[in-house]
Amino acid sequence: MTDEINSVVVVGAGQAGCQVIDSLRQSGYEGEIHLVGEEPWLPYQRPPLSKKFLSGEIPAARLSLRPEAFYEKHKVQRHLGVRATALDAAQQELSLSNGKVLNYDRLALCTGGRVLKLPVPGAELEGVHYLRNIADVDAIKKDLDLARNIVIVGAGFIGLETAAVLAGMGKCEDGCTVTVVEMQERVMSRAVSPQISDFFEKLHTQHKVKIVMRRGVTELVGSNGRITAAELSSGERIPADLCIAGIGISPDISLAAQSGLECKNGIVVDEYAITSDPKIVAAGDCTIHPNPLLDQRLRLESVHNAIEQAKTAAASMLGERKAYAQYPWFWSDQYHVKLQMVGISQGSDTIVTRGDVEQRQFSLFYFKGDKLIAVDSINRPADHMQARRILNNQIKITPVQAGDLSIELKEII
Ligand SMILES: Cc1cc2nc3c(=O)[nH]c(=O)nc-3n(C[C@H](O)[C@H](O)[C@H](O)COP(=O)(O)OP(=O)(O)OC[C@H]3O[C@@H](n4cnc5c(N)ncnc54)[C@H](O)[C@@H]3O)c2cc1C
Repeated sequence: MTDEINSVVVVGAGQAGCQVIDSLRQSGYEGEIHLVGEEPWLPYQRPPLSKKFLSGEIPAARLSLRPEAFYEKHKVQRHLGVRATALDAAQQELSLSNGKVLNYDRLALCTGGRVLKLPVPGAELEGVHYLRNIADVDAIKKDLDLARNIVIVGAGFIGLETAAVLAGMGKCEDGCTVTVVEMQERVMSRAVSPQISDFFEKLHTQHKVKIVMRRGVTELVGSNGRITAAELSSGERIPADLCIAGIGISPDISLAAQSGLECKNGIVVDEYAITSDPKIVAAGDCTIHPNPLLDQRLRLESVHNAIEQAKTAAASMLGERKAYAQYPWFWSDQYHVKLQMVGISQGSDTIVTRGDVEQRQFSLFYFKGDKLIAVDSINRPADHMQARRILNNQIKITPVQAGDLSIELKEII
């Protein structure tokens, strides 16, 4: 990808799209940049949506990833509140919902994901919400004041963070209830080990959140168009005047698939974030990419992935080759507990605890054979930072060293 580049179009005004622009300008690219975003806002951070933005601790203005002045300074032409509707890869043309057509030399697809909707009767009732963008949280907040019985569907990160915020608002007190309904055997089962699931289940129970496992919501029942109850697969009916579903997303591959780019469970890219069309890169939640360190293809939903893959994508557009090869990491805040994870713990055969579980300050080091593959830290941010260095630099650490608090991790590094 080294021919002359005068026009770059970025589809998706989110975490990855914003980083692509930043990296292009930092690398000295001076040509045109168009940013097309379906939402009306400049790129903003999503993590606070289920944390301090939901609780009201931070206003919408503080969510922006960059101020307006950044886009002015870098001469980014913004097309906000506009959806890219069709991609003609052969003509290098992108059609927008406002009738405009943009030509590009290079295109970045940073289209993120779309929330999965509850596939049950009653899902259209008022009081049933999802949590992906600012508008979703604004709508939830409008219903929150009067809500006394809240049902959260899905005990993943978003469902549990939401439960923690609602418990903190007193929604588990004075006859009010917050119930999390989860089909799986344990909370956050897709992402964390049974030990971490167990820790968080207890934490929520201590804060009076009810967790109902191994049951699904089969119907949302309503009266006068508004939700009144949720029926579970066990036949049980629980009162609900507000329902928030956090049951996952599907990668937004619509534009890519329609234009004939290779897609599986995501837009297929190589380690340079290049799609099956060499003039088109993709980054963030919408991609499926190879990770040479883990020797597998991954589709990740994390800020770290969006930022780092976007840096690689920007470099590729300018003809550089910087492979994206890092251990994935992620965090979640629930109550006063910060969980930070690096690597993928599935498949480990030895787990070593460092720190004090009772004090809620510990890390779990996951080994496969004698190789460290992942570390989950609870309120031990220094462990997390060192673990990232250990894993990314493939530094040897033994289970004995990992568990011995008298050995500083930075000494090993
Ligand atoms: C509530 C919540 C909490 C989270 N918490 C954490 C956390 O604690 N830690 C963490 O690491 N990650 C967290 N995440 C995940 C993280 O925010 C995402 O992984 C990250 O935002 C992905 O960035 P992205 O640019 O790929 O997609 P997005 O930020 O979703 O941006 C994609 C954008 O593209 C737009 N778009 C799609 N198609 C088109 C089109 N055809 N035309 C125009 N625009 C289009 C979408 O409207 C969207 O605005 C959280 C996510 C949510 C929703």
